[in-house]
Formats: sequence, C-alpha cells, structure tokens
Amino acid sequence: MVGFKMKKIWLGIYNLGLGLAVTVKHLFKPAITIQYPDEKRAPYPAFRGNLRLNRDKCTSCMICSNYCPNYCIEVKFDIGEDKKRKLQSYTVDMGRCMYCGICVEVCPFGANYWDQSYERSVYDRAQLIERKDK
Ligand code: SF4
Ligand code: SF4
Repeated sequence: MVGFKMKKIWLGIYNLGLGLAVTVKHLFKPAITIQYPDEKRAPYPAFRGNLRLNRDKCTSCMICSNYCPNYCIEVKFDIGEDKKRKLQSYTVDMGRCMYCGICVEVCPFGANYWDQSYERSVYDRAQLIERKDK
C-alpha cells in the first residue's frame, strides 16, 4: 500500500517536471502571439475577405447570381439605347454568403473578386446586405 502511494507521488513529481520543462523551453523563445488589435497579421494571399465588384467590368450577365447556391446576389440593370445591359445595382447579402467563391470563379469578365478585409463585424444583420457597385 505504501509502495503504491510512493509510486503515485513520484509519478506526480515526474509529470510536474515534464510540464515545467515545456514552460521553461518556451520561456526564452520569441512569442508567436500578437497583441491584436494593436498588432495585425497580414492574411494569406488566398484569404476571402469581402466580395468586391469592379463596376466597369460587370456586364450584368447575372451568371454569378444564377450560380450562387445561397441566392445572395441581386443584379439589377437597365437596357440601354444600344440594347446592352447597364448595371443599375449589384447587391450581395454577405450574411447569407458562405464564402464558397463560386460567383468569382464563374464570372467570365473577372468583375468580382475578394479583398482581404476581415474586421467586418456588425450588430445588425441588415448591415450585411451590401451594395457592391459603388
Ligand atoms: S461566395 Fe458563394 S455564397 Fe457567397 S455570394 Fe458568392 S456564390 Fe454566393
Ligand atoms: S459580376 Fe461577372 S458574372 Fe456577375 S453579373 Fe457581373 S459580369 Fe456577370
């Protein structure tokens, strides 16, 4: 019985030593954490932040809105005198968007793209319905 208790005590000391060794090992290494929001880390190049639109490139073809699985994109347009579509508004409900990127991939004109912004919290979901054509 005494031997069993001593074994447990030594095991406890051993495990404590293991834990302290890890602490000491990291004590003298540079910290990998950053002091957000004072310090910010640049996102990775493929990071999907906010959806953007280059209005000049958009032909209002609506391929993006037809492919969007969540029906987030609303494209409104007029027909000009030259019988071509003129973009009136391009609205995306970012609250429903699942950032799949399909809309960007299918656009034949490279009109929509991702930026790298990430500080986009809002208190009201209605604020996530964003006009992208401005
Ligand atoms: S990223 Fe996906 S869910 Fe979001 S608007 Fe584009 S197609 Fe729709
Ligand atoms: S963003 Fe691209 S796919 Fe969408 S309506 Fe404009 S041109 Fe068409």
